[in-house]
Amino acid sequence: MSTSPKITVATTWLDGCSGCHMSFLDMDERLIELAQHIDILYSPLVDNKILPESVDIGILEGSVSSDEDVEKARAFRKHCKILISLGDCAVNGNVPAMRNHFKLADVIDHAYRETATLQAQIPTQQVPALRAIVQPIHAVVEVDIYVPGCPPSADTIWYVLSELIAGRQPNPSAVTRFGA
Ligand code: SF4
Repeated sequence: MSTSPKITVATTWLDGCSGCHMSFLDMDERLIELAQHIDILYSPLVDNKILPESVDIGILEGSVSSDEDVEKARAFRKHCKILISLGDCAVNGNVPAMRNHFKLADVIDHAYRETATLQAQIPTQQVPALRAIVQPIHAVVEVDIYVPGCPPSADTIWYVLSELIAGRQPNPSAVTRFGA
């Protein structure tokens, strides 16, 4: 692995469960070695909440379910040289896309009225507007690397980042399969 300059990384989640980010943390002691090669400039895992103008690697977890998700995906595409779809939700919609079998109005009604035990009402403020269907990230922006898995294992994430740090193109399909 090269030692300098450090590769800059940004991560965020769209419509996901944060499990892919937890898998990132599951690299455990390898995070220490990783920290010698990368700087995480923006992420739910770090304090900085302003996406820098230019980042080497952007990592997106989760599918595109709301207008806010579209904005985040476009911002990452604009500011990141390499964009990674991390996890099955990002790659193919996965769990969030299960709602695509139902009308959006019915989904919202079920979530906020039918199953509510207190103050049943549909929120109109502070909640991003949902899109009619859930889509994978590559439906709204170009993706460079797809990393399937629910979540991808820590070993897989380590492999992908190690290859990129070494200046090689990773081949995640060689070490992953959907849902595993
Ligand atoms: S791929 Fe799995 S672990 Fe990752 S955000 Fe989706 S449901 Fe969670």
